[in-house]
Amino acid sequence: TAPRAIFSRDHWRARSAADRASVLTRLAALVREHADELARLETLDTGKTLTESGWDMSDVADVLDYYAELGGREGDESLVSPNPNSSSTLVREPIGVCALICPWNYPLLQASWKVAPALVAGCTGVLKPSELTPLTTLRFAELAQEAGVPDGVLNIVLGPGPTVGAELAEHPDVDLVSFTGGVSTGQTIMRAASCNLKRVALELGGKNPHIIFDDADLDLAVDHALNGVFFHAGQVCSAGTRLMLQAGICDAFTERLMARMERIQIGSGLEEATQMGPLISAEHRDGVAARVAAAQEEGARLMMGGRPPEDEALARGFYYLPTLFTECTAEMAVVRDEVFGPVITIERFSTEEEALRLANDTDYGLSAGFRTADPDRIDRMSRGLRFGTVWVNDYNVYFAQAPWGGFKRSGIGRELGAAGLEEYQEIKHVYQSHAPESLGWFGS
Ligand code: NAD
Repeated sequence: TAPRAIFSRDHWRARSAADRASVLTRLAALVREHADELARLETLDTGKTLTESGWDMSDVADVLDYYAELGGREGDESLVSPNPNSSSTLVREPIGVCALICPWNYPLLQASWKVAPALVAGCTGVLKPSELTPLTTLRFAELAQEAGVPDGVLNIVLGPGPTVGAELAEHPDVDLVSFTGGVSTGQTIMRAASCNLKRVALELGGKNPHIIFDDADLDLAVDHALNGVFFHAGQVCSAGTRLMLQAGICDAFTERLMARMERIQIGSGLEEATQMGPLISAEHRDGVAARVAAAQEEGARLMMGGRPPEDEALARGFYYLPTLFTECTAEMAVVRDEVFGPVITIERFSTEEEALRLANDTDYGLSAGFRTADPDRIDRMSRGLRFGTVWVNDYNVYFAQAPWGGFKRSGIGRELGAAGLEEYQEIKHVYQSHAPESLGWFGS
């Protein structure tokens, strides 16, 4: 009830946008000041490397700064009224109380994509981190208080999804639920949210093709393909685990890829030499192992990995070796479904048309990448791919100005960019007549 009461009392939304933005700017500065501490907490919780956690914290601060800048300069907009002696104004108002439900793979970064636009829009909210990774969210809430976010505006609840999360999705006092997580949870939340027709924003899973054409720079393509997959041990919604290779380079690419995969340093995220940490939990590792076993049964050829490492020093963690399947086809479950682990599938294709058709033959539509030197092909492929983000000759590039979200089952709505702020706003049209006249119609 705190966020509803605070929202109703105008406590936060009545402040000027510039004033709310200044609080966000202070919070960004505090995140930068405490970046090492936050990164360490993120690594302790998620297992990802300290380097990756450090990048996440820098991105969190950038997102806060971006929305402070964007939201802080927002004002009413005049429309051209078709009628004389009248004015027409577009007013953007906060949607109200928001439930912000986050996953475990990028705990604070995903939270910042929601918290920053929600706060600058004037909303109040309840933020629920994953039960597996609450630490940075809790520290962030302390920093938010220090930055000047008033009590009751940003609230944290902890606990399991099916009880605590479900309560948020159902609650009649919640006006919007913004959720990042798996597709089936997203479907459950959407059903629950229908009870009071709350607005729903969903950032869901992905199965993301990374297409390498014959004319791409091979070494660079291998390097970017590795970055596309092995950040956070493949537990990334945009991971480019579905590699599609044109026939002319397929064998040479696979050979070079395997040579580099062999050398990936696995270990604790806290150790400097580590390039890839563990999976999030024993249960999740079992799930990845089950998908790997099923892939072999459906005919994919296991070339590397496919099991936890044998190194005694890694026996107590939920590690899994970088894994590579060749001879994959678009019908296989390992190609169609999200594995969320360090598992690459390779499909071979001949023509551009075939690549486009296969890449689009998926229930998901979060992100895709392709590599080529041909400008005409760049134009055709960029337009033809049905995904929320398309990377050309690069992979996994995110920044606050660029909207992020999925086509098809990868979600509804957008985070980041101006579209990410609009999710938290209602649009009101105010029409005023300055010289009202009688119509003299009914009953005259
Ligand atoms: P998840 O769906 O299991 O859980 C996400 C959050 O929802 C957690 O906080 C959880 O407690 C909560 N939750 C679970 N059941 C709920 C319910 N019935 N009602 C309300 N809340 C509930 O997802 P996860 O395993 O934490 O995250 C991995 C998934 O997230 C992957 O599918 C990944 O692709 C996706 N993801 C997507 C993006 C994106 O930007 N599209 C980003 C990161 C992760």
